[in-house]
Amino acid sequence: MIDIDFRSDTLTKPTDAMRQAMANAVVGDDVYQEDPTVKELEQKSAKMIGMEAALFVPSGVMSNLIAVLTHCNTRGCEMITGNKSHMFLYEQTGVCQFGGVSINTVHNLPDGTFDLEEMQHHIRSRDLHEPTTSLICVENTHNKCGGRVLPLSWLDELVEIGKKCNLPLHMDGARIYNASIYLGVPAKRIVQGFSSVSICLSKGLGAPVGSLLHGSREFIERARRLRKALGGGMRQCGVIAAAGIVALDSMIERLAEDHANGVALAKGIAALNHPYFKVDVKNMQTNILVFNVEPSKVNTSEFCAKLQENTDDQLTALGGKGVCVKAVPFGASLIRFVVNHHITPEMIELALQKITLVVNEYKI
Ligand SMILES: *Cc1c(COP(=O)(O)O)cnc(C)c1O
Repeated sequence: MIDIDFRSDTLTKPTDAMRQAMANAVVGDDVYQEDPTVKELEQKSAKMIGMEAALFVPSGVMSNLIAVLTHCNTRGCEMITGNKSHMFLYEQTGVCQFGGVSINTVHNLPDGTFDLEEMQHHIRSRDLHEPTTSLICVENTHNKCGGRVLPLSWLDELVEIGKKCNLPLHMDGARIYNASIYLGVPAKRIVQGFSSVSICLSKGLGAPVGSLLHGSREFIERARRLRKALGGGMRQCGVIAAAGIVALDSMIERLAEDHANGVALAKGIAALNHPYFKVDVKNMQTNILVFNVEPSKVNTSEFCAKLQENTDDQLTALGGKGVCVKAVPFGASLIRFVVNHHITPEMIELALQKITLVVNEYKI
């Protein structure tokens, strides 16, 4: 049985180089700010993002939470974000639970942006009946919108609005290096004009644990206090930061391979030309393929279960070896496949053979 796992890029395991670096890491107590490996990672990442300072945190969710709580540090604060954003959908609205910050959502367009005119109507006036708009957040690349990269021109326009309205901007850049590789520009260009940026080391970059929050020195100082309050102060975490350094040094350029594999997968499914499975190949930009199924004909959970099983006929068709393809049902009409560095072009081919067999079970 061959396992081809497209559920997430978080499933990636540390590379041999990472394990070596972890074994050899020089460490200290990072709460005392005495871990040289963590400092090295933070400084390296801050330089790459083009901000004064960075803070190593256990996860992307904590990084976004700390960012919002640092920006929204008085009562009655509200943040604006897209209605399909990870921060709104998949973080238990921790900012509400733990920070009393309300979320005002703007309708996300299919490309991960939102209408900037419409967004400005969500910015509150100073009317005393209303909460205070304190922050605008965007996600880049956009997970739920299929790994879409926010256009630089749109980001520039947003930055102008932020300046005009005196509102800070936060980017959930969990996959910012996928955006950077797609656009062919450094990450620091993408975040130009933003006040803070969160990035994940444990997604496509392959590190086992960790995210980084970036901002001004003053912002990161306050974020550091909050990290401790939330229980995110780690001790000899240079052992994991060491893997993060390898990730930033050696795992960014190769994301282009994931993107190419993603396009091959999208093209392969589109080529089946099955009316119940609609893949938008021209908008397949990075490592996340989200496509539509016809919900009245295809049950997404059932479809994903079929991709994992092997009927006798399929075993014969696949030359005796079973192929287990894992993908994620994203609600009633969407399926998500995520490519990562363990997935080779040969595995894409094999996965497509299996997907073809299963798709063809759905008679038109
Ligand atoms: C994964 C992810 C996060 C959160 O990261 P964790 O490390 O899983 O907590 C935040 N935003 C986006 C867009 C993500 O994909």
